[in-house]
Order: sequence, then C-alpha cells, then structure tokens
Amino acid sequence: MEKNQRKLNKSFYIETYGCQMNIADSEIVTSILCNDGYSLSEYLEEANIILFNSCSVREKAELTLKKRLDQLQFIKKKKKTLFGVIGCLSKQVRDILLKEKKIDFFVNPNSYKEMSNFIRYAMIGQKNLSINHQKNETYADISPFLKRDKITTFLSITRGCDNMCTFCIVPFTRGREISSNPYYIIDECKRLYQNGYKEITLLGQNVDSYRWTQGLITIDFSELLNFLAIEIPSIRIRFSTSNPHDMSDKVLKIISKHSNICKHIHLPVQSGSNKILKLMNRKYTREKYLSLVNRIRAIIPECSISHDIMTGFCNEEEKDHQDTLDLMNKIQYNYGYMFSYSPRPGTYAYKKLKDNVPQNVKIERLKEIIDLQKKHSSFRMKEYLGKVQEVLIEGESKKNNQYWYGRNTQNLIVVFPKESYKIGNIVSVKINDCTPATLIGKIYKDVKKWNPSKI
Ligand code: SF4
Repeated sequence: MEKNQRKLNKSFYIETYGCQMNIADSEIVTSILCNDGYSLSEYLEEANIILFNSCSVREKAELTLKKRLDQLQFIKKKKKTLFGVIGCLSKQVRDILLKEKKIDFFVNPNSYKEMSNFIRYAMIGQKNLSINHQKNETYADISPFLKRDKITTFLSITRGCDNMCTFCIVPFTRGREISSNPYYIIDECKRLYQNGYKEITLLGQNVDSYRWTQGLITIDFSELLNFLAIEIPSIRIRFSTSNPHDMSDKVLKIISKHSNICKHIHLPVQSGSNKILKLMNRKYTREKYLSLVNRIRAIIPECSISHDIMTGFCNEEEKDHQDTLDLMNKIQYNYGYMFSYSPRPGTYAYKKLKDNVPQNVKIERLKEIIDLQKKHSSFRMKEYLGKVQEVLIEGESKKNNQYWYGRNTQNLIVVFPKESYKIGNIVSVKINDCTPATLIGKIYKDVKKWNPSKI
C-alpha cells in the first residue's frame, strides 16, 4: 500500500510508563482522541496506532521504553502500525528514536490537543514528526477518560515545574509550572464522584506551590484542599508530590482538620547531606527538612511519611551517605522509593557535574539504604498490630483471590478475607499481622456504606 493511501483506521492502544502524572496524562490523551473520533482498543494487536506514554526521569523507565519498542517492531513492520511516543522524553532520546524510525511521531506534554493532527500527518507518510510547543497547557477543559470498575483516580492540579533540581529533566520536558483553575478542579472532582470514584489523588510535580490568581483573588494549595474537602465530603482526597521547600503549616492544619483528606505525605528528601542537597539545587537543608517532619508529626500525629532518596549523586562521599542513613534513622519513614543516580541527558547535572561515584559504590549504598528502609517499614507496620483501620476496598489481593486489598488513610496496603464485601466498600479491619509492605487483618465489624464522617 502506498504510504499516502493508508487507510485511516482510528483505533489506538496506549501503554503508560513512569509516574502518576503519566497515568493521569494517558486519561487526558484518551479523552482527547475519543472526542476526535478515535476508539480505545483494549488489545494492542487490534489497534493501528500504539501510543507509549514515556518517562525519562529515571534511566530504568527509559530503558524499559526502548526495550518495549524493540520488542514490538515486528508489529509495526507487519501491520504498518503507527508508533507514537508522548510524555517526558528528553529531546536527545526522542531524536534518536525518530532517526532510527522506531517511532513515527512524538508529542510533548503541552501539545496533546493536537494529537490527532500528528496522527493524520504520520498516516500520510510524514514520518519523523516532532513538536515542541513551549506554551504550557493545563487541560482544564478536558475531562479525564473514565475507566470502568475503577474507584480511585488521579487529577492533575498543576503541570510543569519551576524548581530546576539539577538532576531532573521535568522542567525541560513539561515546562514552567502552571496551576489549574480551582473551579474546574472542584467540578471535575464532583463529576468523578458522581461517576463512582471514591478517592482522588491531586497531582503535580510540586502540589504545595499550587497558586491560582484571578484579579484580586488568589487560591493556594491549602485553600484548594479546604474547598474540596468541604464541597465533596464523600470522597477521599490524596495529593502528590510535596516539595519540602514549599510545604506550609497552613496545609498541615487543613489536612488535620478534615477527615476526608488522607493522612499521608510523600516528602522526597533525595539526600540527607546539605552538601548534596545544594548540588542538587534542592532549596532546603536537612535541618529544615527535619523540622518540617517534626511539625507534620505535631500537627497530624497519625500521618504516615514516605520519601524518595537518590544515592550516588555527583561528588557524594561516604560522609554524605552516612548523613542520609542518619536522617533516615531520625525519621523512620513508613516507606520510600530509592534509586541510584544516573545522569539524564539535558539536565544541568548531565552538562556541568561529574558523575564520579563508581557504579559499585552506588549499588552498595543503595543496598544499605533499602535494607535500612525495610527495617523502618517493618517497625512502622508493627505499630498497627491490634489496631482497627478504615480501608477502602480497591481489588482482589494478587497473592490470594479469597482476599481483598485496599488502603488505609495512611496509604498502607491492607489485605483481609473478602467475606461478603465489594470493591468500593469502606470496611473496618483489625490488623493482626504484617510484613514490611502489607498489613494483614480481618473485618472488624459490619461494613459501612461510604460515609466520610466515619473515616
Ligand atoms: S521539584 Fe525538582 S525533582 Fe521534582 S519535578 Fe521539579 S525539578 Fe524535578
């Protein structure tokens, strides 16, 4: 078939890699394409357009994407399927993928509304198509695609980031930070609730710097949370990610005040060493971070805290690593996400700093950090033994189909025998056992219909 005679089969399949932002973006992209007359295919083999929502924030995600593209090249060739990449891919990587013809087009996170144009161009043979619009876009006028049988979802409230951490590609791929209109956010949350969702996670690279201004009115993150908690008392509200530099006591007090705002804060620290924090251009010190953790625990005593830690950043010495372990010991986080540093093309660190910690040292330090976190997670989980937890049932346990799994307000996984309950029910579970990652229990008393006043 001639390139320009290719039939416009409007069915697409989407694979998502990376963080919650990418999951939320896939729902936006799905809505945009469905509104433009495309249909979402449940099976990759049936679609004639495959979109890969990518991530290059960590090297591992980028490698996963490349591997997946290689695996699927036979479909591309055999069925002439179009491959498009969207999301946070660095310019260097996407240029290589386009040059090698592993993909047909790339659309950056600010240009999703133009997706169908790119598909059309690629369909008629205009390959190697790329775009890099600088204008930031909130997609406030696009309602995310609603998935069947889901009870939890994500909603972006800010996009982009102004922080310029030296290791991070996000400010270059997603652009400057922009906050969505709060009226849209509230309306969208109401719509999600009316469609059966029980829990919404508000997303942003840095939700604490949410700030929307119109005329004399300014609404910050604490006010947004307050409005949402009051306007939709029947929904659980979570948020991610918090930046220690921007998190205010005002936000902490609002979390403490409302039972439907979940008691969990993901607070990436990255390093416990002031020297490394400075090199990373994180705008806090370990002392300020520890003081914030103390205030969280004073204002919201039941709050769980999780972290991101990156080990082996440029110039990290043993002393810096020990500072990180010491900070972890002081806080004893509930859980965390741990990585070793790998330079990301396009970032300040890639261009200006030396990746001078040997790989074997990075691996050893990462192992020590993971082992220590396991110890702390285990300690924290044991604090729940004998206690009753309110759990939103999210699905069947992967290990035992006679068990449900759900999460408590602290975002900890709880599994328990199903009995007669259903996905979406809120149940009280008495915890009688645990692993470092899971609380295990039994239904404590009758299920309550979702009732936020009893969360
Ligand atoms: S706060 Fe730092 S790490 Fe997070 S997205 Fe912004 S630049 Fe990246």
